[in-house]
Amino acid sequence: MKIGCPKEIKPQEFRVGMTPSAALEAIRNGHEVVIETNAGAGAGFADADYAAIGATILDTAEEVFATADMIVKVKEPQAIERKMLREGQLLYTYLHLAPDPDQTHDLLESGCTAIAYETVTDRNGGLPLLAPMSEVAGRLAPQVGSWTLQKANGGRGVLMGGVPGVGSARVIVIGGGVVGTHAAKIAAGMGADVTVLDRSLPRLRYLDDVFGGTFKNQFASAGTTAELVREADMVIGAVLIPGAAAPKLVRREQLSGMKPGAVLVDVAIDQGGCFETSKATTHADPIYEVDGIMHYCVANMPGAVARTSTQALGNATLPFMLELANKGWKQACADDPHLMNGLNVQAGKLTYAAVGEALNLDF
Ligand code: NAD
Repeated sequence: MKIGCPKEIKPQEFRVGMTPSAALEAIRNGHEVVIETNAGAGAGFADADYAAIGATILDTAEEVFATADMIVKVKEPQAIERKMLREGQLLYTYLHLAPDPDQTHDLLESGCTAIAYETVTDRNGGLPLLAPMSEVAGRLAPQVGSWTLQKANGGRGVLMGGVPGVGSARVIVIGGGVVGTHAAKIAAGMGADVTVLDRSLPRLRYLDDVFGGTFKNQFASAGTTAELVREADMVIGAVLIPGAAAPKLVRREQLSGMKPGAVLVDVAIDQGGCFETSKATTHADPIYEVDGIMHYCVANMPGAVARTSTQALGNATLPFMLELANKGWKQACADDPHLMNGLNVQAGKLTYAAVGEALNLDF
């Protein structure tokens, strides 16, 4: 099969769908790989890196789309890319169709077969192609939060790990799933005094068993959450209620009771945010202040570390990509119900119920 990887064109997107090492694995499996020139540049992969392992570099996205049987990307195809998709072509990327009727319409009209990263499942009920980005955002949260805590950035001027004789920063993580656990590990590794709040008792038991000595955990009742937020130097919002907007767990009137210059890092901002005063920001202008409290609310945090994110995503997408290329989508999906869950569009038909329900379309 000919596998094509165009350069991402969504603003501020520096990741790339295939690393040179993923391309090498595809080639070793007997496939041909075509890459648009400079596709990997934002993630630190040069054309020469791809050429060295036997991939063909093409000058334009048009050529990549015209020649490839399967297109591997990161972000949903933009309008101009959707026009280049054709009947029978396989598209493997993040799609997020439910809030995007225009894209859904165009994909249906193209006749392509589209596998969405975000709906591929695993045997534990997880989302293996979303998890790496949650890992990245979680590990990044204390890093950006500690920068925001610095005086020059509007923060309280507190060092995460303190120094001998001076206490460390108090970090509260609300939501102890993938993001929250990774955030807590890094914050604790920086020497902070960390408590994770969650409403799931099985999750709290797991955190206690595995990380009991590294960070504390508490049940996220409204009272406990309010009390810990008052004492915190940094609060990381990492909750998720699948399919719903994030609940507002810190209200504006609580900010005046917090320590001046404390920091809120709202990782859940891509689901609307879990602090009432959160509004989405960008990497170019990531922080702002409300009532003396600093907010960091970047909706695509993994973009800040495009190289790490590309490699992490590539590791997760590779096994499925090889299955799709080696067997064709039909057999690959027939053999693996978890990959089948990724199938959103097939030859003009919507094949994912939740998207059909969200957009009121037949599926
Ligand atoms: P997850 O499902 O692994 O974890 C969510 C946790 O929140 C679960 O343990 C759940 O029990 C807990 N929770 C739900 N309601 C709660 C409440 N009221 N109080 C306390 N805990 C509660 O999800 P995840 O992968 O960790 O993602 C967390 C959030 O981060 C999501 O909103 C996701 O979209 C977002 N995210 C954002 C970025 C970004 O760049 N900003 C990147 C990746 C993920």
